[in-house]
Order: sequence, then C-alpha cells, then structure tokens
Amino acid sequence: MAELLDMKALIEPGRALTGEEKERYSRHILIPDIDMVGQQRIVNAKVLCIGAGGLGSPTILYLAAAGVGQIGILDFDKVELSNLQRQIIHTQADVGKSKARSAKEKAEALNPNVKINLHEFRLENHNALEVFAEYDLIIDCTDNFATRYLVNDAAALLGKPYIWGSIYRFDGQVSLFWSKEGPCYRCLHPTPPAPGSVPSCAEGGVLGVLCGAIGSIQTNEAIKLITGIGKTLIGDLLIYDALNNSSRYLEIKKSPNCPICSGTQRNLLSDYEEFCGLGNGITPAQLKARSNNYLLIDVREPEEFKISSISGAKLIPKINFEDGSIFSSLPADREIILYCRSGIRSDKCLSLLRNAGFNNSTHLKGGIIAWEESEK
Ligand SMILES: [Zn+2]
Repeated sequence: MAELLDMKALIEPGRALTGEEKERYSRHILIPDIDMVGQQRIVNAKVLCIGAGGLGSPTILYLAAAGVGQIGILDFDKVELSNLQRQIIHTQADVGKSKARSAKEKAEALNPNVKINLHEFRLENHNALEVFAEYDLIIDCTDNFATRYLVNDAAALLGKPYIWGSIYRFDGQVSLFWSKEGPCYRCLHPTPPAPGSVPSCAEGGVLGVLCGAIGSIQTNEAIKLITGIGKTLIGDLLIYDALNNSSRYLEIKKSPNCPICSGTQRNLLSDYEEFCGLGNGITPAQLKARSNNYLLIDVREPEEFKISSISGAKLIPKINFEDGSIFSSLPADREIILYCRSGIRSDKCLSLLRNAGFNNSTHLKGGIIAWEESEK
C-alpha cells in the first residue's frame, strides 16, 4: 500500500449539536477517533453523490444516516423494475419515478436533519464545474467512462477530492482521487477503453449485494476524509473479489504524462463522449464485428427502407425520436445502433436517445451508403 499520508480533516467542525442530534449520533460520538468534534465535522460537510443507482443507494443512505449536513443527488434517470435487485434506496412503488426524487424521499425519511439538494439532469461539461463548486467532496457512483473522465477533470480543476467506485459481476474497485494530494483517474487510466470492449453491468450483470459492499467502502472513505481519521485510499486502488472474499491493493502513481496532474489540461474537454470514442459512431466493419445482441434501428422514412435496408434492422423513422414517443418501448438492457442514409439523421437521433437515458447506444458512421460501399 502507498505511504501513509498525514491525514488532516477536510471539514472544519460546525455548530454545536442539538440534544436530538447528540442522541441520534451517539454511537459515532462514543468512538474516541470521531468524538463530538468529528460528528460536528460530518454535520458541517457537503457531499455530492453522482448517480442514485447501485452504488448511490448505500452511499446516499449512509451519508444521510451519518448526518452529512448537505447531500447532493445527481441523476436524470427513472427507476426501472430491473434496478430493484440492487438499488435498495428505491422500492416497487417508485418504478417510473425519478431516481433522484425517490432517493431524496428515502434520505429525508431516514434523517430530517440533513438537507438534500436535487440535481435532476445529466452531468455535462457545461454544468459540472458549477455543481461541483457547491460541495466539499464528490462520490462518483456512475457506470460509464465518459462521465468518469468528466468527474475526474472537473474535480481536479476545482482541487476537490472524489471517491470513485466501479462494479461488475463479483468484482469491485474503489479509490480516492485528489490530484492536489495524489494521483487522479487519468494517472490510472490515461486513455478510455475502446467502445464496446468493457461490458457494462446491463450487459454482463452484477451481484446486487456487491453494490452494498463497494458503496459502503466509498462512503467510509468520505467519512474518514471529512473527519481526518485512518488511512484513505489516496494512491491505492482497492480491488475486491466478492466470490473469494479477497481484497488486494494496487499502488497508483502520479503520472508525469497525466494532462490533468501536469497542468497541461486547464479546462474540461469539449466532448467526453467523443473522447471515449462514442461521439462519432461506429464504422461498417465495427458493426459487422459486433455480437448480434444489439437492436439495429433504421431511422429513415418507410419509402427509403423499402428500397434497401440492413438485414435485421427495425424501421423507426426519425420523427419518433424527435417527439419522444418511441423511448418507452425501447429496451434499456440492449445496445441500440442507429443508422440512416449518410449518418446525419442517425447522429441527431443518437443525441436524443442518449438524452433519454439510453447510454448504451451508437450510430453507423456514413450510414447505409458506407455500409453498401463496404459490402462491395
Ligand atoms: Zn493525474
């Protein structure tokens, strides 16, 4: 493991606790390392949780139970039936409801002393810095690479620490990235993986209880950072294997080539999806190499479709994406690939599709023209 850093509490102790709070947090206050002053630090902290899903569920609940003074919940998604196997902050009655709102209700019911701020939108490069600025630290509970790089860069540019977690099947990883004090996510992963090369939980599955283990470790890092106790995961990647009950640590070194840590990148990127190879779509050769579990959609007009189409494609003209009428009938657990004649209409439909929460989607570059060209 990396050298023990001399931990300083991130948060100053706030106001004196009320009688009700002293009783509520008594099991914290009894721990000598936390004591009254540590609990006052927790009450004075502002933490942003990005994502109210698998990792966000235990994170938000434990932050609220611990009495973190302000908790931001950022999510634009809606609760689906397939979330309930692991996203324990939501219930059957919440299906169809906004995840951020559902999570806020549960956190407030658990502890009315905490203030919950709703951020019901997708984290983008034009809003990330503004939202992050309101908080002392950020917990990244997202599941896609474009958002992870955005979270890293925004946190680093503001000098704020953030706790990253990731899960897949039985495996989880956690680290604390803080470019002011140690390495950042880009030091660990300088370049994003090729699109489609790393399967998501929606494709490969995830053990529900793993979310509880990893989200709890992330929240534990937050509490330690806030109160200045113990040793955090700065400079270490924790790798947890639920199947064999084993944990190991990988030392992460600050990279001299990291654009964030070396200061060569002083702004957010203009397009993180493009950085992750998602913005420009896929080539005909990439489409042919895909395993056939995707849904291929032709967004042209019925007359064009009649003349020629790609085998296996379903016709859903562009208008259905523009008026949003098609989104409720599209599968959330399959990759969606769009195409049109030249790639212009499908690119437009792709941004509408991603805005509606279908992150696992792309389009065919050059459209059916490029496809037919590649067949020759
Ligand atoms: Zn770095």
